[in-house]
Amino acid sequence: YLRLAGVNKTFGSFTALGHIDLEVEKGEFVTFLGPSGSGKTTTLMVIAGFEQATKGEITVADQSLAHLAPQERNIGIVFQNYALFPHKTAAENVYFPLQMRKVGKKQGIRKAEEMLELVGLAGFAHRLPKELSGGQQQRVALARALVFEPDLLLLDEPLGALDKNLREQMQIEIKRIQKRLGVTTIFVTHDQTEAMSMSDRIVVFSNGAIEQAAAPLDIYHRPATRFVADFIGESN
Ligand code: ATP
Repeated sequence: YLRLAGVNKTFGSFTALGHIDLEVEKGEFVTFLGPSGSGKTTTLMVIAGFEQATKGEITVADQSLAHLAPQERNIGIVFQNYALFPHKTAAENVYFPLQMRKVGKKQGIRKAEEMLELVGLAGFAHRLPKELSGGQQQRVALARALVFEPDLLLLDEPLGALDKNLREQMQIEIKRIQKRLGVTTIFVTHDQTEAMSMSDRIVVFSNGAIEQAAAPLDIYHRPATRFVADFIGESN
């Protein structure tokens, strides 16, 4: 469904991504795991269109994304620091991507409220971001990323700022919502336990390359490279 073929990204003389080949199935939940600086975020950035790949091709349902601007790609994004609009209510924040797509206010706000209900925020539609907890704000961000029925959902450390209990609660919530909508999802995390429990497949990155892409138990029991064996072992 999503296909990266020979994707390379350089910044000046520095190679951030070597030669990335990856296929993600429709509805799959794939997690990118790997050390800091290994290329996880850069890969999301080229998929989202915030960075241009230096070489290679990215397609969704066999359609190239190459000439589409980020807002034309129909991709929902939640980053740790991807802030809500502070002067818009929760419902107005969630309506925003629909507004960009020329959906009228009445219908759009109704859709936004439905999405807020799905993420567990029924009754919070009229709150401003500052009147919501960190976890609730992340739920609004998730609703905003999903409201326009994206082809892909990209989550970059979305739970990084949350404390442990809230983080575990949100892991379960994200999985529930992802399954319910069947949206193809890429999730970036540093947390191996999180990756193991949430993913259909884990993609292990090192130095701008994919070391292994496999089901969590295969990664754990049958690491394909020395790097994966050492990396998965070390913080468990
Ligand atoms: P982390 O887990 O710390 O977020 P990551 O695996 O997501 O790391 P990337 O953010 O993809 O890593 O970065 C990969 C490499 O590319 C890093 O060495 C980083 O310094 C470099 N890099 C990323 N963006 C740029 C940029 N705009 N200009 C120059 N180098 C960059």
